[in-house]
Order: sequence, then structure tokens, then C-alpha cells
Amino acid sequence: MTERADPGQVDSARAGEAEGQAHALRQVHREAPPRSSAPPDAPDTAPRTAAARLLALLHHRGPLSRSSATSALGLARSAMGTALAELDELGLVRTTTDTTAASGRGRPSPLVVPAPEAPFVVAAVLRPSCLKVTTGTIGAPIAPPRLRSLGARDVEPERLAVVLADQIGHAIRRQDGRDRVCAGIAVAIPGALRERDGFVHSSLCYDWTDVPFGQLMAPLLPNFPLHFDRDSNLTAMAEYRRGAAAGASNALVLTCDGRGIGGALMNAGNLFTGGGHAVEAGHLMVDSRGEPCPCGSRGCLERYADGAALARAAAVPTAGEALRSTTARARRARRHAASVLGSGLAGLATVLDPDRIVLTGFLAGLLAAEPDVLTREIHRGSLLARTRGIQPVPGELAEPMLTGAVDHAFAPLLRDPQRIGPTGR
Ligand SMILES: [Zn+2]
Repeated sequence: MTERADPGQVDSARAGEAEGQAHALRQVHREAPPRSSAPPDAPDTAPRTAAARLLALLHHRGPLSRSSATSALGLARSAMGTALAELDELGLVRTTTDTTAASGRGRPSPLVVPAPEAPFVVAAVLRPSCLKVTTGTIGAPIAPPRLRSLGARDVEPERLAVVLADQIGHAIRRQDGRDRVCAGIAVAIPGALRERDGFVHSSLCYDWTDVPFGQLMAPLLPNFPLHFDRDSNLTAMAEYRRGAAAGASNALVLTCDGRGIGGALMNAGNLFTGGGHAVEAGHLMVDSRGEPCPCGSRGCLERYADGAALARAAAVPTAGEALRSTTARARRARRHAASVLGSGLAGLATVLDPDRIVLTGFLAGLLAAEPDVLTREIHRGSLLARTRGIQPVPGELAEPMLTGAVDHAFAPLLRDPQRIGPTGR
């Protein structure tokens, strides 16, 4: 399966073998299960009771008619009534007197909406040179994030914990007076970490090794549940639930905010993590004699295809300028970066067999600039991708990491709404 079967160059026996493989793959592709219309839920958020399932549906889809919620969840009308009463009692959901004719027969149906006093969460993402912090509420788009740039001193672990806690505190205080409680805080971290306590094994962009970041944060925000996850995992889950990866059986999602490339795989609605840190796409070796990488290897994908690498090659200050510049040097640099990204994706596709490849952030910009080069290299380097006819697609969410972090902070409540207690307190 690692063979690059080009019928113009291989002998007839091999060409026949490759065609046989391709035929088998086409069969598999045809027999793949149809897209599910059920609301997607990763296992960590898979709700148990009818009330929990209704709350998760409302969160992921936004306000909807009672009749469409009833049919989406496959509930009897009486079970829906019980679930709505339970969520109303908890101060999480209301049924409005406004009606919609969404029942399919023109009969008006009440709208199910989040309760105004329902809890909020805070989401934060750590980037190489800034922090982004925002709040999220059930079933609503995230608020525009607040940015705080980071100087060289700020990324020292104790200092960054204080800066981040301060920004999160601001976000919580801005909600004061709205009679809501903060149900949790989720922090997206660039690097390999232990999610349950925020212990960062390594974060190359901050030059961190074995940093107990969660332990540093906890005393600064003692009254709130704190959650941590890898930034690329949160991006992939958000694009799967609401964006370009929705409905895919096996979605490979790559992300890049400028420096470094992250990856994640959503397999049948579950995040595939391997031993805990799988799909470190940025450190896939694409040139064994290539440039040294801070990870200790050389020739890693992100040395050639992240925003910083493109800016260097195009001799401009930023990745954005490198994507827009019309100089011959910038065009050459874009084609080269797209070509290397394509061959890296080909390697990943051969190992992981995705039925969709989603590129977010800077990589979506590189895809828009050089779609043909990128797709050609993926197909040239991967029989599986070529047979499937995979075309990489851009992410659909403006802030997938923050959206994923909001979902992550809400996950315990969506799994068990009773944990909030009556009247949301
Ligand atoms: Zn590396």
C-alpha cells in the first residue's frame, strides 16, 4: 500500500495489482456507512438521559422547535415533556410562547431555547505570541475573543499562569450582574499534555518540558472547574460537531495559527489519540536530511509548511503577507510550501485512510492559494487518497479552537445536567 502506483511507469503486473487494490478500495468506499443525521457527540460528552440529550442538541444546534427536537432525539411526546420540565426546573432551558411552523405539517410548535439564567463557561487558547479568551453560553455562538499579546517573559510558566488567570477573571467579571454562574473553564494548550490535570509534557513554542501548568493555574482560580486539552484536538472536535468535518467517518484535521502545525483524527465521532498524543502532524518527517527541528528530529513538516516557514521563504514579515504577496519569490514559496504539505498529507492519508481532510487557520489560506498543487501532491503520494478522490477542504469555523474549548468546558454539564442543581445554583 506504500507503493506509488503510476501506471505509466510500473510494469503491467504491478499496474494490474495496483488496479486490483484500487478496485477493492472503491468497493470499500461504496460500502462505507451513510452519513449519520444524528447530532454528533464525542464519547466524553455523550449524554445519558433524555434531558441530557436534549440539552446537548440545543447546545450544538441552537434554538429549535419542540417538534423537531422530539423527532431528532426519537422521543415520545411525553418523554420530551418530562425532559423539558426537568431542564426548566434546573434553570437551563425554556419553552417560549413564540412558535414556528417547523413540524412539517404547518402546525406551529413552541421553540426550545436556552434559559437566560443558564450558566456560561470561559474558553481560553494559548498561542505562541498571544492569549485569546472568550465566554460561551448554551446554544449560542461564542462571543468575540479578547486578545492579550505575550512578550518573551510572559511565556515563563508561573508568569503565564498569572496572566491567563487574570484574563479569565476579567471574562468572568464581565458576566457579573447577569445572574449566571460559571460552569467551567477550558484551556487549549499547544503541545503534548495530560488532559486530566493539565501537566504539559512538552510545548515547543514555549520551550516547556514537564510543566505542571494545571497545578499552577488551580490556586489562581479556586472556585471553578478547570479543564485542559490539546489545541488541535479541540479544533478537530469543533469542526466535526459544527463544521467541515461533520458527517465524515474518518476526518483528518490539521491546524496552524502561524507557527507549528497540529493534527487530530476524528474516527467515527471519537477522537483518535493513540497512546495519548497521536497525529503530531507538524513533526512528520518529510525530508530525512532536512532542517533540524526543535523536537530533536530533522526535516519535519512544519519546518517547511507552517506560516513562519512560508514568511521566511517569501522574505516577508508575516504569513498573511506571504499568502497575499504577488512577487515571484512569494509565489514560488507558496507552491513549495503547498507541495511539501501535500506530500506530508499523502503520508498521513496512507497511514490513516481519512475520508476527509480539513485544513484550518493558515493552512486553509495555503489551500486557497494553491489548491491544485496541494491536491496533486496528496494524490501523487497516496494511492488511498487518489482512489478516494480526496480533495482537502478548508475549516468552516472562524474560531474552531475556542469553539472546541467552549464545548469542552460545557461537557460535564451536557453529560449530566443535574450537576448544576435546581435553579442553576
Ligand atoms: Zn519536529
